[in-house]
Amino acid sequence: MRCWGTIVIPVLQVSSFHSDVKIMPEGHTVHRLARDQSKWFSGQRLKVSSPQGRFAEGSELLDGRTLKSVEAHGKHLYYFFSGVHVLHVHLGLYGKFRLHASPPPEPRGAVRVRFIGKTNTLDLNGPNQCVVLNAQQIADSRKKIGEDPLRTDANPERAWARIQKSKKPIGQLLLDQSIIAGIGNIYRAEILFLMSVHPTRPSCSFTHEEFDELWKTSVRLLEVGVKYNRIITKSRDESDKPLSKLTSEERLWIYKKEFSPICASATQKWLLGNRQMYACAVCQR
Ligand SMILES: [Zn+2]
Repeated sequence: MRCWGTIVIPVLQVSSFHSDVKIMPEGHTVHRLARDQSKWFSGQRLKVSSPQGRFAEGSELLDGRTLKSVEAHGKHLYYFFSGVHVLHVHLGLYGKFRLHASPPPEPRGAVRVRFIGKTNTLDLNGPNQCVVLNAQQIADSRKKIGEDPLRTDANPERAWARIQKSKKPIGQLLLDQSIIAGIGNIYRAEILFLMSVHPTRPSCSFTHEEFDELWKTSVRLLEVGVKYNRIITKSRDESDKPLSKLTSEERLWIYKKEFSPICASATQKWLLGNRQMYACAVCQR
């Protein structure tokens, strides 16, 4: 297939580049939430309520049921309850969980949903989505989500099929949650830097070998992210101290860096896919 992608030369912003005001959680955060919340609440009959009232009907359906498991798919959370009900949560930019010991204090702010378990209580404020679905609706909702490097049922070939057909820059496509789910703004910059691939390269110019490397790098970095509950893209060999001891400055290669850590060239910063991208024109071709 011919590849007609346009190479857009990034505009170098010397000063006044803005940092993201709110950061959308990336896949590692959501998977870590699923893992922790599963540990805290699975197998328990939960008292479910909506102190704010906006989720009153949904909470009535779930109240008194046993939470069987919590799963993450990309940036989405699914809470499987006894019976047919599944709670679907997407945090968006403003969603936030708070954990309390049970019995909990008075709700703080607009708590959309509160789970009270034996020893822990979980509050969720400000989610983008918080809705009860049935199995069919869940299946339909998950069809729209791309392949998640952190899920054992992921099928990377499906992501490859989309990538090899797209003329869009790879840096932009990596934000498309319907292709690869869970990679956000920080991971895309770091993955492409580690691969020495410039973000403006048309996706369709990727070889299958390069895609395999991209997938494996995504799996590896996201797994580290879940383990440490933060984005760390340096490996132990590449750092002079344990990964848990790295400062926020030391954890990343190129994201928000002024200079390339390899060749010391000034970093390119520009908007790609409407988010700030970072790359080195020398190290990344
Ligand atoms: Zn460089």
